[in-house]
Formats: sequence, C-alpha cells, structure tokens
Amino acid sequence: MSDYKHILLAVDFTKSAEQILAKALDIAEHNNAKLSMLHVVEYMPPVDYVNDPMVSNWVVDDNEMLEQAEKSLQKFSKQHSLKNVDLNVQFGRPKHVISQFVKDQQCDLVIIGSHGRHGISMLLGSTASAVLHAMPCDILTIKIEE
Ligand code: AMP
Repeated sequence: MSDYKHILLAVDFTKSAEQILAKALDIAEHNNAKLSMLHVVEYMPPVDYVNDPMVSNWVVDDNEMLEQAEKSLQKFSKQHSLKNVDLNVQFGRPKHVISQFVKDQQCDLVIIGSHGRHGISMLLGSTASAVLHAMPCDILTIKIEE
C-alpha cells in the first residue's frame, strides 16, 4: 500500500458516513497518516415562488447553518470516540470545496462514499463522480451497502 500522509474523509451524515469511517480509520492507522474529516454545508438559495422565483424575502443565516453542522460533526466524532481527527466544516458546493481542501491541505488520499444523499440508488453519486474528475490525488470510493 502507498504511504499516505494526509487522508481526507468526506462525510455527509447519511448512512454512508458510518461505512466509510471504518475504512478511513483502518487506512489511516496502517499508514500512520493524519486523518481529516470534511463536511460541506450546501447552500440552497431560497426561492419565493409566489412573487418572483429569482428573488426571496427569506433570510438564511449562514453562520447558524455552519454552527449546526459543526455540532453534528462533533457529535459524530464523539459517538465514534474519534481521537486525533481534524474536523472541518465549510460552506459551498461539495465537489468544489472538497477539491480546494485537498489542494490547500495537501491531502494525498480522498475517501468518499459511492453514493449518499444525491446519488441514492445510483452506482456512483454526483459528488463522488464530480470529485473523481477534479482530484489531484488518489481517491478511494467506498461501495455503500444499502
Ligand atoms: P452523493 O453524491 O450525495 O451521492 O454522495 C456521495 C459521497 O460524497 C458521500 O458518501 C460523501 O462521502 C460525499 N459527500 C456528499 N455530500 C457531501 C457533503 N455535503 N460534504 C462532504 N461530503 C459529501
């Protein structure tokens, strides 16, 4: 096996997260690698269908969404008694944020589920598929069992 130094695990809090975590911990331990976890909060622009589909009066508090996601990631980490795992939450489109994180943090392996929320019932979900094309390093796509 290659000598990986910094592994990135992309988690979306679906059932897939549990399955890919087990593999990631195993690989990180065998490689004595740093393990980072990243959850991307996806921004859904609110739409006001009644008055104008392009404009909305709703106010979405980005910080509140980030805070909630941070809490969820910490809870996930506690539930699995994770130690020495770097937890990250960022805002944006998963495929872009994951690629940028890998470049900025010089990760040499990305571990991602074959499908999660977007790719339900697909062989390869949209995030996994997009990341596959954009990544400057190895990618391990874990087949998610239903
Ligand atoms: P999907 O494209 O939704 O089918 O998800 C496939 C895989 O991409 C998931 O198993 C996760 O590993 C990753 N992923 C999807 N959405 C996110 C997200 N918002 N943040 C981090 N990773 C994600």
